Amino acid sequence: MTSSAFSFRVTQTDGGARRGVMTTAHGDVQTPAFMPVGTQGAVKGVTHRDLESVGAEILLSNMYHLYLRPGADLIARRGGLHTFIGWSRPILTDSGGYQIFSLAARRTIDEEGARFRSHLDGSAHLLTPEKAADIQAQLGSDVAMVLDECLAYPSEAGPARQSMERTMRWARRARARFLALYEKRGQAPFSSDGVVVTNPDQAQFGIVQGGVSPELREESARGTVAIGFEAYAIGGLSVGEPGDVMYDIVAGTTRCLPDGRPRYLMGVGTPQDLVESVARGIDLFDCVLPTRNARNGQLFTSEGPINIKNARYAEDDQPADPACGCYTCRTCSRAYLRHLFHVREITASTLNTLHNLHFYLDTLRGIRDAIAFGRFERFRLAFHQRLSRRLHDS
Ligand SMILES: [Zn+2]
Repeated sequence: MTSSAFSFRVTQTDGGARRGVMTTAHGDVQTPAFMPVGTQGAVKGVTHRDLESVGAEILLSNMYHLYLRPGADLIARRGGLHTFIGWSRPILTDSGGYQIFSLAARRTIDEEGARFRSHLDGSAHLLTPEKAADIQAQLGSDVAMVLDECLAYPSEAGPARQSMERTMRWARRARARFLALYEKRGQAPFSSDGVVVTNPDQAQFGIVQGGVSPELREESARGTVAIGFEAYAIGGLSVGEPGDVMYDIVAGTTRCLPDGRPRYLMGVGTPQDLVESVARGIDLFDCVLPTRNARNGQLFTSEGPINIKNARYAEDDQPADPACGCYTCRTCSRAYLRHLFHVREITASTLNTLHNLHFYLDTLRGIRDAIAFGRFERFRLAFHQRLSRRLHDS
């Protein structure tokens, strides 16, 4: 591998599921792992101390947002993203392809890159694969993602192929730029080709695209692996396609990826999606569901999601999830959480987010233990049985 500190080791397998350790300059990540989403350098509603208390080993942050505000130069002058935000564990930065697709005004994509206007002030920008690599080198995340083109679902076969091929050409350019930047690694920060590199041990992940076509996905996977990255992600899923279609694409794609490198399923998903994707060989996840839904009053529990806004919880003295050991469940009743939500107390978001993140990270801990003891299939079955035992209210 190019990066001196980055490595990955599969320690156990159980059917298609893998348990492993991803090592970065800022520490180890036990996989399968879930990355809380800290879009703007913070997970909404909670502090880094809260994240550490629920056992988050890696944080996802977003290049698009940080590039627009406060700017990559400013963060590089602070010594990089870890120093700026005060988080000493690993960070992965998303490249912004999805945000340009979904947020930016008047975006046009051509061979050179993505031209767009900022959703904040309308200013014009051109983001190329090279520039996305430069910005992430300035941020100094442990893992940088290549710039990819995101496709709307559903898509015709023609545009899906063109988009997949463009993403692959962009990946080649992104890798060339990354290798040039890190060719002469020195003590951080060092300047390379006019870019201040704040983390000499950054790794770069390629992204497999291709919509819901198994053929395009396979071609994209083989082409991206041929370019050669520290690891591989599957992008463009969970965008409206049926669940079984997504699971089939995940299974087909992981078969084309090397065993010795991490596999990251981007932006997915529900607790059930995590269990089913681990069964198909996925090692890394991120998703806004636990944090965004917490702020809307939805709590994930071992018996399925509950909506804390509901009148039925007005005098319910039980914790959100009696099976949960998080701070929220140890100290707050459903009645209190419902009250906080209804009077719009800031702590409603904090307490709900803490619980949901704990639930997600605890689910991953359960998955890892199950794989380690060769009991993943039993875990998977019990997990689904528990969720289907009752009808949910949300
Ligand atoms: Zn809890």
